[in-house]
Amino acid sequence: MLGLWLEDQELSLRKQIPAPSLLTGEALIRVRLSGICGTDLELARGYYPFTGVIGHEFVGEVVSVVESDDSRRRESRNLVPFGDDKISGSNNWIGKRVVGEINAVCGECEQCRNGRPTHCEKRTVLGIANRDGVHAEYTSLPLANLHIVPDSVTDEAAVFTEPLAAALEIQEQVHIHPNDRVLLIGAGRLGQLVAQTLTLAGCDLRVVARHPLQQKLLTGRGIKLITEDEVQPRRWDVVVEATGSPSGFELARRALCPRGTLVLKSTYRGEMSVNWSPFVVDEITIVGSRCGPFAPALRLLERGEVDPVILIAKRYLLAKAVEAMEAAKQPGMLKVLLEP
Ligand SMILES: [Zn+2]
Ligand SMILES: [Zn+2]
Repeated sequence: MLGLWLEDQELSLRKQIPAPSLLTGEALIRVRLSGICGTDLELARGYYPFTGVIGHEFVGEVVSVVESDDSRRRESRNLVPFGDDKISGSNNWIGKRVVGEINAVCGECEQCRNGRPTHCEKRTVLGIANRDGVHAEYTSLPLANLHIVPDSVTDEAAVFTEPLAAALEIQEQVHIHPNDRVLLIGAGRLGQLVAQTLTLAGCDLRVVARHPLQQKLLTGRGIKLITEDEVQPRRWDVVVEATGSPSGFELARRALCPRGTLVLKSTYRGEMSVNWSPFVVDEITIVGSRCGPFAPALRLLERGEVDPVILIAKRYLLAKAVEAMEAAKQPGMLKVLLEP
């Protein structure tokens, strides 16, 4: 099959990638659309060693399911099967339009047994760690990871389910009070979705957005902006840092009020030198935030309470995936989609 392959920090379009082989309880999925995420760009820059098909944001269609235990196991990839659990009615999945949670977990380790499956010690992660991803004609995931897309949600909206879930993880972790002053720093691909979901909490939200298009999309939805210079120090109850840059972190630190909460929604490249004393003196809570819940993300899409489609900047055929990655790198570029 055709796919976007990453090896030694080199991206290439490959035509002869074998279709994913399924483990027990897994589905083969024909990709309908995939989205390029900042993490894809980071992987290509070598932030994490990965060889294979990249990409983890998708909407697709289930084409086959493996129920029996005699399926081939990809031992070389260290995938852990779900064990003997039979998933009832898995044939009902065939033809269903689905999105999928990206962490394929073991269900047995310390983290899984304590209700932290996204932190599974043996997890494989779609297009990120030990599992081929979605910028390809086909992909695979355990049935347990799949969610059926409501009919009224278009492919163009559904492809945003994963990053929308990641945005909602903030409210899974932090109680946003209606009276809270909330500052979001960064309004790129993920920041826009964070803004659209935070505003639903009714809080006093302001967003630092650098690019004119980012600003326009926010104000178009009634979300208020603030410039870096206007951000008052020691005023904000919750600050969400979504730039992944040392300057964004520094702005967040200055903005937080005593006993405020800092939510880190981006990873930082390399090491960063931080003066931690103010965090101690001001009793700041720091929350790292990653993957989130899919069901509420799909609910918001179905109800039209968020609109990710406005973030689509460009759409390429999968055959042009290398060019698409190049385009996605441009500063201020929002979502680039790939169509197999
Ligand atoms: Zn992502
Ligand atoms: Zn586990």
